[in-house]
Amino acid sequence: MADKRDYYEVLGVNKNASDDELKKAYRKAAKSCHPDLHPDDKEAEARFKEVNEAYEVLSDPQKRARYDQFGFEDPTMGGGGGYSSGFSGFSGFGDLDDLFDMFGGFGGGSRSRRQNAPTRGSDLQYNLRLTFEEAAFGCKKEFKFQRNAVCDNCHGTGAKPGTSPTNCTVCGGTGQQRVTMNSPFGQVQSMRTCQACGGKGKVIKERCSKCGGSGFSRITRTVNITVPAGVDDGQNFKTIPGEGEPGRNGGPAGDLYITCSVAPHKIFKRDRFDIHCEVPISFTQAAIGGEIDVPTLEGSTKYNIPAGTQEGTRFRIRNQGIQQFRGTSRGDLYFTVHVEVPKHLNEKQKNLLREFEDSLNGREYERRKSFGDQLADYMKSNADKFREVFGKDKK
Ligand SMILES: [Zn+2]
Ligand SMILES: [Zn+2]
Repeated sequence: MADKRDYYEVLGVNKNASDDELKKAYRKAAKSCHPDLHPDDKEAEARFKEVNEAYEVLSDPQKRARYDQFGFEDPTMGGGGGYSSGFSGFSGFGDLDDLFDMFGGFGGGSRSRRQNAPTRGSDLQYNLRLTFEEAAFGCKKEFKFQRNAVCDNCHGTGAKPGTSPTNCTVCGGTGQQRVTMNSPFGQVQSMRTCQACGGKGKVIKERCSKCGGSGFSRITRTVNITVPAGVDDGQNFKTIPGEGEPGRNGGPAGDLYITCSVAPHKIFKRDRFDIHCEVPISFTQAAIGGEIDVPTLEGSTKYNIPAGTQEGTRFRIRNQGIQQFRGTSRGDLYFTVHVEVPKHLNEKQKNLLREFEDSLNGREYERRKSFGDQLADYMKSNADKFREVFGKDKK
């Protein structure tokens, strides 16, 4: 027992250290001597045991209190066994990945996935902005975007030109590492991602100066594409294979997906391949009917509205909508008329309208007439009630 180091000294904290300080100190100490990082290093293994034992005692308030009072000579432990008899070995904290996961991650590597296996690069998405007309009629577009590319200085090896990565001596190039640990239940073996090479199986002695060893560099790509007529807002209308991020370890590159956002039009609203608009007409046009101008995607067209056109009537012009995406036919154009009533008439105009109104003698206003009939029916059927209510007021 005499050669045992003080637990506080082992963790490098003072006697008043808080739980947090203990945890931090333990993390630091455990990392510095973990068997995964120091294979076949008996001294590190011994230190790792020591660190674990110290943390196990000091992190338990009861054990810590007894340790503070009696040191290693705790009478309750019976016969000089000290705390080591209660030491639970590597269980719980033994796994390096667990250890670092527990404290917020280390290196970010997944546990057992082979890091040196060929992996496909990520797909990328580019959003192309189009005007309403560009989407309707199709267009040619050039755009630029950035992505990673295999470094042309080192051809992706990450090593300085003229040198090449060498096999990792810790794992022998497999990227995986067999770890043997002692536990109270005997020796335990398990496979881990090699910590020396990060699972790559290769180690770079002299890094490529251009990519800093990553094997990738950032490049700007220029793409020319033909946008087909009829693409719609949010549509993923094209995929360019191999224009995504490059693969790792010889894996294929990802793809580039091109989507578009289509700007709204001042006049037209789109509904799939149909377009809709509103057209104001005068109340005289509505009454007499005749040819009106209707806007189209190409300009305008004449349309004959019938006499007596009512407010809010919707008309359809076939094949004046948007070209169907990868199709041959076009959608339709719908327009809704809104009858405008003049606000400022002079006396002469007013008299003309009065004359006109008199000439109708109440005819031609179907809705007014049927409303009048309904009102009369209503009054008649509720005559008693009206009499009662308004009769009272008179008294
Ligand atoms: Zn490079
Ligand atoms: Zn390795």
